[in-house]
Amino acid sequence: MSSSKLNKTKYIFITGGVSSSLGKGIVGASLGVLLKNQGLKVTLQKFDPYLNLDPGTMSPYQHGEVFVTDDGTETDLDLGHYERFIDQNLSRLNNVTSGMIYWDVLNKERNGDYLGNTVQIIPHVTNEIKSRITQCLDHDNFDIIITEIGGTVGDIESLPFLEAIRQFQYQNREDCIHIHLTLVPYLSASGEFKTKPTQHSVKELREIGLKADVIICRSENPFPYSIKEKIALFCDVTPESVIMAIDARNIYEVPLLLENEKLDQVVLKSFKLTKQDHQLTEWKKFIDVLHDQKKPTIQIALVGKYTNLSDSYLSVIEALRHAEVPNFCQVNIKWIKAEKLTADNCHDLLNDVHGILIPGGFGDRGIEQKILAAKYARENKIPYLGLCLGMHTAIIEFGRNVLKLTNANSIEFNKQTEFPVIDFLPDQKSIRKKGGTMRLGSYPCFIKKETKLFDAYQTNDIHERHRHRYEFNNNFKVQYEQSGMIFSGLSPDRELVEVIELSDHPWFVACQFHPEFKSRPAKSHPLFRCFIQAAKKHSI
Ligand code: GLN
Repeated sequence: MSSSKLNKTKYIFITGGVSSSLGKGIVGASLGVLLKNQGLKVTLQKFDPYLNLDPGTMSPYQHGEVFVTDDGTETDLDLGHYERFIDQNLSRLNNVTSGMIYWDVLNKERNGDYLGNTVQIIPHVTNEIKSRITQCLDHDNFDIIITEIGGTVGDIESLPFLEAIRQFQYQNREDCIHIHLTLVPYLSASGEFKTKPTQHSVKELREIGLKADVIICRSENPFPYSIKEKIALFCDVTPESVIMAIDARNIYEVPLLLENEKLDQVVLKSFKLTKQDHQLTEWKKFIDVLHDQKKPTIQIALVGKYTNLSDSYLSVIEALRHAEVPNFCQVNIKWIKAEKLTADNCHDLLNDVHGILIPGGFGDRGIEQKILAAKYARENKIPYLGLCLGMHTAIIEFGRNVLKLTNANSIEFNKQTEFPVIDFLPDQKSIRKKGGTMRLGSYPCFIKKETKLFDAYQTNDIHERHRHRYEFNNNFKVQYEQSGMIFSGLSPDRELVEVIELSDHPWFVACQFHPEFKSRPAKSHPLFRCFIQAAKKHSI
């Protein structure tokens, strides 16, 4: 049977054991790439066992970046990996949390939907979870649905999810496989790879009635076939179903490493499909350039609040990486913790960079320092890319230093400011609740001709994703325009400023939206591509 002729949806569940942070998201996304390459229509979803309704209200310290989909859902950052890897826009259907499940169950209880029954984890919560496994099929057809269960096997909070997938597999035996991701550590003292953690993790699964069909073993280095045989014997799978996943040079290499280990073949075989000889040509081309050591290096300063946690700016980092390929250069990120920047050390810290990027953010910590960095970029003609808060920063800086609006500020940071150059969005003023209440998701933007923005996009009609409460205050528009700021991107009704740029600067562009969410490996986002192009030019 040809792999592209599936008449029934197949389900792949991915769980993790031994340790967190083994990269279930990347493994799932990579498997998505391999199966899509086989001509199958694939989608990915993440089930997160925490009780928050979504990660929108969580600190990036705890949860990393909040990824935003076109439909305005604030999701786990793994959704970003999924979108980038399978090159497909996802939606609220693709990220389910325990909070959402309980919310729906309790609402049903209040509505009397359970007809007097005692509401219980089994069956009410598990039924709700099971309905979410197939939910995306109400809107589209898929050959394969890959569902990642967040957390690590053994966590109390993931138990209802694991029980739900156990039941689902029992009810759809032929159409499911379960992939378990574990760690095979190497003990240098004894010179051995250790399989015991994997055995224990699989034992833990068995205790709750789950069987792993494929075991993917993260390992720092390649291990011998005998390790596969040992894991196979103890964990009741074939040695071919034990897949070695060694540390990759970068995440985009993972699909190739897993293909090398024949993961796609193992999965297809268990669904009684044969592997087609399709090459991952585009993907390989991208990796080849990414790994090309001859690429010149350019330095980009990323001035942010969370510089010790790159997960907080994950999509920005990935978008910079994608831009390396069309620009044939290597981007070296110089992390600058905003709070460390002062008027005195600004030159020392920024004079060697070829571009300055200020990402999105909330709250006033580090804002004055970010304003210093924007000033440095403007005055020294260093390419500047401001994302959301990075646009507010550029506008405040310009107001204070060019228009001499003393202490101009955003209402977010100083409610009493005499010059509120950034103000609430019209419909945000009365909102008190935090979760899901910002201007979220994809909105159209009109681009003026003969601007750097138009040069980048080559069209005047774009759609980009937003996540903010504040916006440029149009009362100051004329003043800004007269002094050389160009409002190159506006909402279609021309009411909201979406992008600004400077006329007498090689490349100073800042946008209200988050272009980083839409960059894809082989389709570098126009703003990142042009920013890096300008930085490369600046480096010569
Ligand atoms: N804090 C700003 C706002 O809410 C910017 C948000 C962001 O950078 N995503 O408007």
